[in-house]
Amino acid sequence: MDLNSIPAPEIDDRRTEELRTRLAAVHERIDRAVEQAGRTERPELIVVTKFFPAEDVLRLLRLGVRDVGENRDQEAAVKAEQVARLVTAHEAAGPAVRLELPRWHFVGQLQSKKARSVARYASTVHSVDRTSLLRSLRTAADPASPLECLIQVDLREEIPEDSRGGAAPSEVPALAEGIESAEGLRLAGVMAVAPLGEPAAPAFARLAELSALMRVDHPQADMISAGMSNDLEDAVAHGATHLRIGRDVLGNRPLPR
Ligand SMILES: *Cc1c(COP(=O)(O)O)cnc(C)c1O
Repeated sequence: MDLNSIPAPEIDDRRTEELRTRLAAVHERIDRAVEQAGRTERPELIVVTKFFPAEDVLRLLRLGVRDVGENRDQEAAVKAEQVARLVTAHEAAGPAVRLELPRWHFVGQLQSKKARSVARYASTVHSVDRTSLLRSLRTAADPASPLECLIQVDLREEIPEDSRGGAAPSEVPALAEGIESAEGLRLAGVMAVAPLGEPAAPAFARLAELSALMRVDHPQADMISAGMSNDLEDAVAHGATHLRIGRDVLGNRPLPR
């Protein structure tokens, strides 16, 4: 694909208006949830843009979004490059609003062989779930700008032997030590997806406990990445500092994968 052939979206196109409306609704939901939870700090919004094109990321940047998430390296690597070009083109056109590149959050299952690629564009990896990943992440990371790592925790009550997509709670301390002692990596906190078929609130409560436990030894690792379109209120009620919202901002994803 010729990256230079991507047309920059018109500033006030209909999609921008749709995204503006949806984004505003999500921010209102977050505000209400924060108020109901009696919290003083508002969680950060990460807009998960998987399946949606680079043009939508540019629209989101124009609407003030700074953090975007992706779950597949293949898609994210290309998109990050496209967005960089769109931002450059946008700057060259001399618009009134200056744009900065977004911070890319990698939220999907990570394979060791993808670590090098992910480290090129991502500022934060939310899905570190096994020590065998650390060597490739450390090799890939630039010690001058450390890669933020969150430990993804499997919150299911019963974790199957072959679990993919989350470390068992008992594995968290060793993983935290491993990240902390790796040059180029910074332990930033914990992440979870609410388990399918279980209520989200008690699961997020367990995540908050794990976070508190981890902060005894690693006080700076205070990120709690939890909450998606379906369960953001439960995540806010249980201390999430970062919400990962896709659908509610961008609409239904175009195609199942
Ligand atoms: C897709 C995805 C999200 C966003 O989910 P929505 O239901 O679209 O809000 C959040 N976290 C992860 C890990 C995802 O893969």
